[in-house]
Amino acid sequence: MGGVILVLSGPSGCGKSSLINEVLQKNDDIYFSISTTTREIRDGEKEGVDYYYISKEQFQKEIEEGLFLEWAEVHGNFYGTSVKPIENALKNGKLVIFDIDVQGHEIVKKRYSCILTSLFITTPNKDILKQRLIKRETDSTSAIDKRIENAKIEMQRIEEYDYLLVNDDFKVTLDNFEAVVKVARLKQDLSEVKEFRRHW
Ligand code: 5GP
Repeated sequence: MGGVILVLSGPSGCGKSSLINEVLQKNDDIYFSISTTTREIRDGEKEGVDYYYISKEQFQKEIEEGLFLEWAEVHGNFYGTSVKPIENALKNGKLVIFDIDVQGHEIVKKRYSCILTSLFITTPNKDILKQRLIKRETDSTSAIDKRIENAKIEMQRIEEYDYLLVNDDFKVTLDNFEAVVKVARLKQDLSEVKEFRRHW
């Protein structure tokens, strides 16, 4: 059986990374797509774990060489998904998790629609998002305002996703996230239904 894809989008600070880390620890058939970015590395982040950090010039070069499955500019920085590791992971039957924005979701969905499940995660309201970003102490006040404005724009596109999770209580959100991970795996049965029917 081939692999499947789960795309997660939502405002930075809504808890996506914590949810992904929890399921990665419990499942060895999940591959997390590590993006490449031109943004500064944050305290606590690691090269090759959270992102691959490169210069704008190098990013431009990789676009020209066709190395990205998709890329986008978010909050003034560039972010992209390299195509090769994704195709390898899919070939190896993995559940591939992407943490990408709404623009990236649109592109990946076009290419892999029959094996893709999508989930939008957000906070109960924008004040809670702001408090979480302030508490995280990784962004300046102006960067936080930019992220809130971007979140409002991204929220306009929730309807493009299969599921919506509102991260109020982390434990409840994690339970629901694990349910979506489980159901995302079942997509592969549908994409290979002809083969299954033949053997049946
Ligand atoms: P952050 O700077 O908070 O890590 O990420 C900012 C935003 O960029 C998040 O919404 C995240 O989902 C998005 N993002 C991260 N990697 C990629 C990527 O490879 N492609 C796209 N399109 N968006 C990404």
